[in-house]
Amino acid sequence: MGSESHQLHILFFPFMARGHMIPMIDMAKMFAMRGCKSTLIAMSNDEPTFLKSVAKPKDLGFEIDVVTVTLPLKEVGLPEDCDNINKATMMDMRKQFMSAVMMLDRQLELLIEKLAPDCLISDMFYPWTTEIAAKCGIPRLVFHGTSAFSMAGTECVRLYEPHKKVSCDSEPFDIPNFPGEITLSRMQLPDFVREETEFTKFYNVMKESENRSFGVIMNSFYELEPVYAEHYRTFLGRRSWFVGPFSLCNKEIEDKAHRGNQASIDQHECLQWLDSKQPNSVIYICFGSMADFNAAQLHEIAVGLEESGQQFIWVVKKAPNVEEGKEEWLPDGYESRIRNKGLIIRGWAPQVLILDHEAIGGFVTHCGWNSTLEAVTAGVPMVTWPVAAEQFYNEKLVTQVLKIGVNIGVKQWVSMFGDSVKSERVEEAVKRVLVGEEAEEMRRRAKALAEMARGAVEEGGSSWSDLGALIKELRLHRLAHNKKI
Ligand code: UDP
Repeated sequence: MGSESHQLHILFFPFMARGHMIPMIDMAKMFAMRGCKSTLIAMSNDEPTFLKSVAKPKDLGFEIDVVTVTLPLKEVGLPEDCDNINKATMMDMRKQFMSAVMMLDRQLELLIEKLAPDCLISDMFYPWTTEIAAKCGIPRLVFHGTSAFSMAGTECVRLYEPHKKVSCDSEPFDIPNFPGEITLSRMQLPDFVREETEFTKFYNVMKESENRSFGVIMNSFYELEPVYAEHYRTFLGRRSWFVGPFSLCNKEIEDKAHRGNQASIDQHECLQWLDSKQPNSVIYICFGSMADFNAAQLHEIAVGLEESGQQFIWVVKKAPNVEEGKEEWLPDGYESRIRNKGLIIRGWAPQVLILDHEAIGGFVTHCGWNSTLEAVTAGVPMVTWPVAAEQFYNEKLVTQVLKIGVNIGVKQWVSMFGDSVKSERVEEAVKRVLVGEEAEEMRRRAKALAEMARGAVEEGGSSWSDLGALIKELRLHRLAHNKKI
């Protein structure tokens, strides 16, 4: 395995949500491709998906394995198949789910004892793993799966509480001690930041555990957000390594087509459809794995897309209240009218495969970080439609800092279901990002960033070097702790 011999063994523990699992699987592949041994922890139900994702690097001789743990779902009153937060559709179920997750501590400890890894990389939702790793004598790195911009922005809001100094929810405030005069309103902050909830305490525990950890591993690249990477490292004092975009480890069509879930469309059919379109002429609409919209909102999107006159691929998670053969969100005769213009994928799309196609000229996104970075990596400008989590921060990065997107005008953070947007705004934003001078300018900037992203992960690039530096540091740590190499 070249100059990086003395194989380092990393244990990866992703949170059970598609948006967390997908990048961690890619990260495990990346480490394996740099000569480390990677072991991924999966829930039993997800084991086949994990195995499928790592089959190719394994065949190529890279050391990558999957082991399983079992969530004590029965003990917390959840059905046995609810082993992924995407399946916990109600808030109460999510609380139960998080209780079950906290009960995985002993299983993790036993795994570390058995596998004897040199380092644990675990999700931000597992603050308790810092102590377990310390007890077992190995370092823990935290994986948040978001940008330095949002990591630093959320931390400045948490520390300086500007939202407590405004008179109403809609009054804008600047994020204090944060570069770039970035403005938010209280409405755009998560509910647990706006007011103290049970989750607020947990959030603070997560942040404290991060301070005690070895550092933070970022799915981002330095050139994308240098000011914020520095701010996060120096002003906020976080040791961090920028080693992304992880998705770039998927080079072949097959790799891109099978990320996270079985796609609901045949990849060849999808590519054939895209091949028949002109470059930059299709808008792609998808809101990640968690956000859901009601029938009325889906209807507005359908009308807006049709009125825009643009070609589109629209991913719709099956809406509630779908009767046999009838979908209440779909205008009458819609699919026959849009026949050659639009493609609706019901379920799961091969997103990276689609974004990377030259026919895609824009992406309407909820600004989940994976989707945002995948668009950057593909050089595709965005229409930003944030819903929950840290997505309002990512929107600011895209529209105000990178200037590769237009916002659709969402004002309110709403967990899971999203603030409502009228069809006219969909129509206008889609046209703005696809056609005209402003679109050309955004596309030019997005393509330049895409080039930088590819350069970052190539040998000698910033992410390549940062990953090399991290591997070296972990080796030294192992040496210092008298482990055999
Ligand atoms: N994704 C996909 N097909 C879909 C929906 C999502 O491949 O139909 C992938 C997408 O490429 C990304 C991840 O799922 O890697 C979603 O992560 P993101 O951070 O964007 O959003 P989240 O699902 O966490 O809200």
